Amino acid sequence: MSPRKSAAARATTVEEDIFEGSDSNSEFPVGDPVAALKVIREDLGDCTRCPLHKQGRKQIVFGVGNPTAELMFVGEGPGADEDEQGEPFVGRAGQLLNNMIRAMGIMREHVYIANIVKCRPPNNRTPEREECETCSPFLMCQIAAIKPKVIVALGATAAKTLLAMNSSMSQLRGRFYDFKPAGVRSNDPNWQGCKLAVTYHPAFLLRDPRQKGEAWKDLQMVMKELGLKAPVQR
Ligand code: SF4
Repeated sequence: MSPRKSAAARATTVEEDIFEGSDSNSEFPVGDPVAALKVIREDLGDCTRCPLHKQGRKQIVFGVGNPTAELMFVGEGPGADEDEQGEPFVGRAGQLLNNMIRAMGIMREHVYIANIVKCRPPNNRTPEREECETCSPFLMCQIAAIKPKVIVALGATAAKTLLAMNSSMSQLRGRFYDFKPAGVRSNDPNWQGCKLAVTYHPAFLLRDPRQKGEAWKDLQMVMKELGLKAPVQR
């Protein structure tokens, strides 16, 4: 056995109720999310675990932002701009996400942003279930390292993967879920998971701007939970 089990191996072998168990399996540097994220990125390596590694990706898009963020956004997967720049949500949808974050009275630098899959699906297709299941344990490890208060799942793929539910967006939106990252334990016994809300993916909002009002309702619910106030319009 290798001296250090990979983050994904830990995520897929540790039982789901690990939050209640002992911390003997935890190998993240306690209390240091920066170091924990570095370990997870090293474990990911030049990943070839799912078919997306050989379908034209230029680079792995790990995630970006504040390692101690109270708020995390999780999307579906990198697009062309993200694949090029190695950062999630940097294209047109990323600009809209930045605007959504600003409307909440905070900045992109304050939050952490990641995706369910870390490699670009060809032609921006929806990631296959197997790809989501193979890649998402690394995201679960990132969530456990960052320990946010709230996660916003952007779009149906993110919501269904994180919640392991197969409901429609209209059924998923409009409420909070209690969320613990599946199969991985936080290094902080005081962190008992977080709230998760679902809203539309910014790329969908670009295609159907009439839904922006609905997305704003979702974000206002999150703002209330985090005690955020929208900036005063002048
Ligand atoms: S999508 Fe995730 S699991 Fe698949 S190759 Fe990329 S990093 Fe690895």
